[in-house]
Amino acid sequence: MMHEPALVPRPGILDISPYVGGEAKVAGVEHPIRLASNESALGPSRKAIAAYRALAGEIHRYPDGNAEELREALGRCHGIDPARIVCGAGSDELIALLLRCYAGPGDEVLYSRHGFLMYPINATAVGATTIAAPERELTTDVDAVLARVTERTRLVIIANPNNPTGTYLGTQEIARLHAGLPASVLLAIDAAYAEFVNRNDYEPGIALVNRAENVVMLRTFSKIYALGGLRLGWAYCPPAVADVLNRVRSPFNVNAAAQAAGVAAVEDVEAFNRARAHNERWLPWFSERLAALGLRLTPSVANFVLARFPDDPLKNADAAFAFLQSRGILTRKMGAYGLPQHLRITIGTGPEMETVAAALAEFTAAS
Ligand SMILES: *Cc1c(COP(=O)(O)O)cnc(C)c1O
Repeated sequence: MMHEPALVPRPGILDISPYVGGEAKVAGVEHPIRLASNESALGPSRKAIAAYRALAGEIHRYPDGNAEELREALGRCHGIDPARIVCGAGSDELIALLLRCYAGPGDEVLYSRHGFLMYPINATAVGATTIAAPERELTTDVDAVLARVTERTRLVIIANPNNPTGTYLGTQEIARLHAGLPASVLLAIDAAYAEFVNRNDYEPGIALVNRAENVVMLRTFSKIYALGGLRLGWAYCPPAVADVLNRVRSPFNVNAAAQAAGVAAVEDVEAFNRARAHNERWLPWFSERLAALGLRLTPSVANFVLARFPDDPLKNADAAFAFLQSRGILTRKMGAYGLPQHLRITIGTGPEMETVAAALAEFTAAS
């Protein structure tokens, strides 16, 4: 009998645990409070919604493959050269593209222990080896990252601020990280939550990209701009990196609706300021409430908090998750991130945060 070889995917693919997003539904609850995916509390700019609707009669047309208007709007907004911007179907697509273009079998991709899961997923998908650097107080540890750079390292990818921890590295620390890397290693700074940060020592990465050949900054419209459903992100790159990404990306990777809504969102400064002010009010409010209940929080600069629950099975993170869910409140379990005693809770509307704080007060008080 001849044995034909079985059909198998490339090495590494079956090692991937598929990404599990935040839950969106609770059985029997018509309008759950959805705080599991770091979506915007206030929803998108009305102007972005209008631009999206205005496009309805044109969806038989291919989008602009170069996202020209959008890149120009981003260039004006951030004072950067549009030619160095590459747009993607969410920053997830850009993370995948970076991995595809810069890493492969035998290469190492370095990230922080509790960093965003799409990094190891995409690194594994291209056959590269993921190396996780330990953290200090749930914060990226620059020395630990640098200590793990080898001649096989091709990419270091750091979320700043990080999801799910909410912590960040200041400008000096990021500069120190970059200074410690060989020129042959690409540093990708994923600044998905940059717009929420109000710290003087924070910079999303633009200044570093301006002066280095091996740094890329990633941004998204899914968080403060509240366009997660449209899938839109962008990368600010050195010219040579933009050239590489533009060779590999699919020609119409960003759909027309995302481009139209994105331009309107970037230009709607009022909606942006409202979303920022909302977070500046409710992030500290909610953080203080949880701390007063005896829960340990990492100091977050993003639009979510990471709360540490006690080890007692009646009071732990799983019990809290189930209790909140029974009240129609969805939060995110953190086991996949190696943080099984934590829940991540997005900052929602004011009434939502009051409801969650009251529910958690009830949960922690019950015996
Ligand atoms: C939410 C998030 C993104 C955004 O992903 P999109 O694909 O743009 O929706 C990227 N990085 C991190 C760390 C995130 O938390």
